[in-house]
Amino acid sequence: MALKSSYMKEIYETVCRRNQGEPEFLQAVREVLESLEPVVEKRPDIQKAGIVERMVEPERFLQFRVAWVDDNGSVQVNRGFRVQFNSAIGPYKGGLRLHPSVNASIIKFLGFEQCFKNSLTGLPMGGGKGGSDFDPKGKSDGEIMRFCQSFMTELCRHIGPDTDVPAGDIGVGAREIGYLYGQYKKIRNEHTGVLTGKGLTYGGSLVRKEATGYGLLYFTQEMLQKMKQDSVKGKKIVISGSGNVAIYAAEKAQQLGGIVIAMSDSSGYVHDEAGIRLDVVKQIKEVRRGRISEYAKEVAGATYTEGCKGIWSLKCDIALPCATQNELDGEAAKQLVANRVIAVAEGANMPSTPEAVECFLQEGVLFGPAKAANAGGVATSGLEMSQNSMRYSWSFEEVDQKLQQIMAGIFHSAYDASAEFGAEGNLVLGANAAGFLKIAETMLAYGLTF
Ligand code: GLU
Repeated sequence: MALKSSYMKEIYETVCRRNQGEPEFLQAVREVLESLEPVVEKRPDIQKAGIVERMVEPERFLQFRVAWVDDNGSVQVNRGFRVQFNSAIGPYKGGLRLHPSVNASIIKFLGFEQCFKNSLTGLPMGGGKGGSDFDPKGKSDGEIMRFCQSFMTELCRHIGPDTDVPAGDIGVGAREIGYLYGQYKKIRNEHTGVLTGKGLTYGGSLVRKEATGYGLLYFTQEMLQKMKQDSVKGKKIVISGSGNVAIYAAEKAQQLGGIVIAMSDSSGYVHDEAGIRLDVVKQIKEVRRGRISEYAKEVAGATYTEGCKGIWSLKCDIALPCATQNELDGEAAKQLVANRVIAVAEGANMPSTPEAVECFLQEGVLFGPAKAANAGGVATSGLEMSQNSMRYSWSFEEVDQKLQQIMAGIFHSAYDASAEFGAEGNLVLGANAAGFLKIAETMLAYGLTF
């Protein structure tokens, strides 16, 4: 898709000039600008107040040195980041990613997307993101701990329960949140809800661990029901990834009667036509921190294939990319379409390339974009914040029910906005427009210096 209006083209050119060498950030901005063209056309007040120009520029971007000592006694230096993108509707909120690919572009694309996603949840959360190019793979527990402590020693000056509330993302799970929270508490001498995804003994919320994956399936179910009078039941499902999002997406998919036939990690994928045995995957990934290839050695009839892209050549009804950005390209999308995929919903952030998204939309495949489909994780983080503020915790059923309502609400907000702006059923446009409008109205209310 091309940008049509000269107004949006100018904004995009400025963003390109200011953020050279940051392809993921530019990709994320471009998609949003394309979606917002019909919105801005209807709302000259938004254009007059320069809302879009302001939203593509983060409020604050922090980069810092993280020095730590490895098990051999050598000093290691990594780069830490936190982008505080937009705080119009609530404290900055978004995860921390630990992965060697992390750089300014990745953090800014994630932070930008987070603003719209958080807005869509209906909860009062602004957008932020952070992380480091630290590679957790192969590191000992002690190394992970020392890295997290050093990272938090700097980060703790910039965050707070009413300012900025980080959480997990790739490479950051319960263990890392524990080390980060412990260090924050020690330095600040405060027991507050400054991070989410905490352990259940110190302020965590039930369902948070499962929330992104479960939410993805609640969204997919709603999308299938409302747009095709169909459901997950009996469908063949391919899920890329085998981290937290993928595992709990698979769990809920199976609970809803779907058959998950493949999962992957950064080395390759396993195919099990009889249905993936999640107890085995959990044992490998959550307990042993091993590789998905081990699955094929343990389960008769399952096969392992080296390389990740081939997973999209498997015939399925529903595809759920839950690994990482740009993992599903135009070619993979064409293959899925040729195999008659019905629905694609994104568990990872921006896993489909623009060519893939274009292909799904043109071919009439139901497409749930990440901002909407994977918002269950951060939504439940929002519920964790509410419980921390109340110094109280809800039961699993209570949180799960709220999550289901939120995901259904997100689908309807995105769907209604797509219809309002002349592209009924285009949930990319709908999610961007609906997420944007709540922030835009708030920024209008604040006047012109925000
Ligand atoms: N990293 C998750 C996301 O991409 C969750 C963020 C959070 O819980 O704050 O939305």
